[in-house]
Amino acid sequence: MKYEKGYTSKNVEDRRFGGGGGGGGFRIPGGAKGGVGSVIAIVLALVFGKNILGSDGTVNFSGAPAASQLPPPSGDTEADLKSFVSFVFDDIQNLWTEEFKKRGMTYEISKLVLFREQVRSGCGAAGAEVGPFYCPADMKSYIDLGFYQQLKNQLKAGGDFAQAYVIAHEVGHHIQNLTGVNRKVSQMSKADPSQENALSIKQELQADCYAGVWSSSVQKKGLLEVGDIEEALGGATAVGDDALQKMGGGRVQPETWTHGSSAQRVKWFKKGLESGSMDSCDTFSAEP
Ligand SMILES: [Zn+2]
Repeated sequence: MKYEKGYTSKNVEDRRFGGGGGGGGFRIPGGAKGGVGSVIAIVLALVFGKNILGSDGTVNFSGAPAASQLPPPSGDTEADLKSFVSFVFDDIQNLWTEEFKKRGMTYEISKLVLFREQVRSGCGAAGAEVGPFYCPADMKSYIDLGFYQQLKNQLKAGGDFAQAYVIAHEVGHHIQNLTGVNRKVSQMSKADPSQENALSIKQELQADCYAGVWSSSVQKKGLLEVGDIEEALGGATAVGDDALQKMGGGRVQPETWTHGSSAQRVKWFKKGLESGSMDSCDTFSAEP
């Protein structure tokens, strides 16, 4: 994807080096990264997850109190990546600001928090192993940029547009927060816990569809490069519940899915991409 190198965004909070008021990283004993096992845990727990929230809005994570901050590195090896996600994040929000306006609604700008290893969010403390997530309570998306290494190396989904898809998916959850879908889903899940996974899948697929809608706008602006759409589809395929279960060497168990299969995720991303309209993203009244 074409973007402005060196771009900075006032909507990106960089807490990777301990800045930004208490969000800094501390090391997780034993290291949560590396090894297929840990990736599966991540992914099964929540790749792109909204489910960082327990039903009481807390995170079940053994977050130790803030100890020492990581020392700042001699140079920011993720500087280009930070500039890319900043550009993408602003572009996504510009689109949704316009789309909401067209519908007589007001889009509230959210923030993207960059962290390393562990972060405090309005939803509690979380470690990088949960993967990128959105917290409805503070309306922020969180990502440890190291996730992109795992996406490329372990999940075999490389490319900048696969990375952009991840951000667009998380902002999709923010849209759901603004439109009331998140609240409705949690109410319905509480009322009928047997529907919890099915509802979660619909919610996740809708976020994928919204990512597709944004991709369509990027395409219309001529910012896509050859292979970008394939990269996004590769990302959506990689994080399908069936793909992740297979990769973990386990049985494919559809009854345990919370995000949808690879095929479903690709299907809904494409719906958004082809229609360019959020109206096509009603996963709740359609078959997943
Ligand atoms: Zn999600």
